[in-house]
Amino acid sequence: MPHRQLYPEALAIAEQIVALRRAIHAEPELGLQTPKTAQKVRAALADLPLEWAEGPSTSGLVATLKGGAGLGRCVLLRGDMDALPMPEETGLDYASTIPGTMHACGHDTHTAMLAGAVRLLCQRQGSLKGEVRFMFQPGEEGFHGARFMLEDGLLGGAGTPRALPDAAFALHVMPNARHGQVAGRAGPLMASADQFDVVVTGRGGHAAMPHSALDPVPIACEIVTALQALVARQFDAHDPVIATVARIEAGTAHNIIADHASLKGTLRTLSSRHREKLHAALERLACGIAAAHGASATVTITPGFPVTVCDPRAVDLGEAVCAALFNDAPFKRLDQPIMGAEDFSYVLEQVPGAMFFLGVAAEGADWHQCPAIHSPRMTVDETALPRGAALLAGCAARFLEQGWD
Ligand SMILES: [Zn+2]
Ligand SMILES: [Zn+2]
Repeated sequence: MPHRQLYPEALAIAEQIVALRRAIHAEPELGLQTPKTAQKVRAALADLPLEWAEGPSTSGLVATLKGGAGLGRCVLLRGDMDALPMPEETGLDYASTIPGTMHACGHDTHTAMLAGAVRLLCQRQGSLKGEVRFMFQPGEEGFHGARFMLEDGLLGGAGTPRALPDAAFALHVMPNARHGQVAGRAGPLMASADQFDVVVTGRGGHAAMPHSALDPVPIACEIVTALQALVARQFDAHDPVIATVARIEAGTAHNIIADHASLKGTLRTLSSRHREKLHAALERLACGIAAAHGASATVTITPGFPVTVCDPRAVDLGEAVCAALFNDAPFKRLDQPIMGAEDFSYVLEQVPGAMFFLGVAAEGADWHQCPAIHSPRMTVDETALPRGAALLAGCAARFLEQGWD
């Protein structure tokens, strides 16, 4: 592997990677507009031979590096830039200075590792054949930032002068996984996540005279239990589905029958087939049960991220790059997907590729016990970050050189 030097080269720029990460960590931004973070990225990479594109829907950036060895394949590397609306409790000296906002999902490290990969690949621009696009996206945490950037044409594709990339790679840190461990899996890696709202409409009245009202509460309760039976009896157990009712609301007092009862929750699946089937089944179930009682129900499903599906060739490529770059921690094949969701899924719907997890627990720590992502006490061992930068750069360099072979 001619790119074996990428890891030592990444270690040599560790200080820059950590400095950018800390600057972003201290000043987190939310949602689709992360202008200060984008500015930090551009400033950190200002000396490099990149073409930048941005706008209009988000503050996302795409930097393009054209290899000096001629035309060839195109590979995309992606990092996300947004934080979470939660207070930080790490006590770090570079902790968030923005009240109620924290980089608790590690996106600060993703951006810094991607910036590191940009530098590593720029250092070997002369020998690269083809093109690398670096996607710095805001709005991962439920805002569909990747979808907006695709729709804006920033990644290429129909209606733009450039084709979509031929391959795409991304990383997500895991603070409760072994330091330096890179993991992934072919096929579904993370779930689709859709929200649902069911409103059962009956007829309110006096709680002592239910026969002259039409109580929506027992009907809503029937829908909750029937939904669990539906998941267990109508879906293949080898292609898991989760339907969680997370909030139930009805009524105003102990002696009044309400007009309405509402249910809110989340639907998770690992295949588009089951996703569509679950949406239709929930609608049928809720409306059917309500109708059986002479009431009515409306079901509203708000689509979230699709299933994150990794291409087996991209996972093999990541494993080969890990084997070439790191001799201390072999690539781990995950047995199971994770039922969380990720908006890199929008990219992977259109471009074959993979997301890998990088363990960033403190070296030697009892990593099972470390606070997970989205915890206010989540921390990252920054000595793992050069590894992530080298891995991203290695995936890009190898793909440009060999494609999927
Ligand atoms: Zn997150
Ligand atoms: Zn995340």
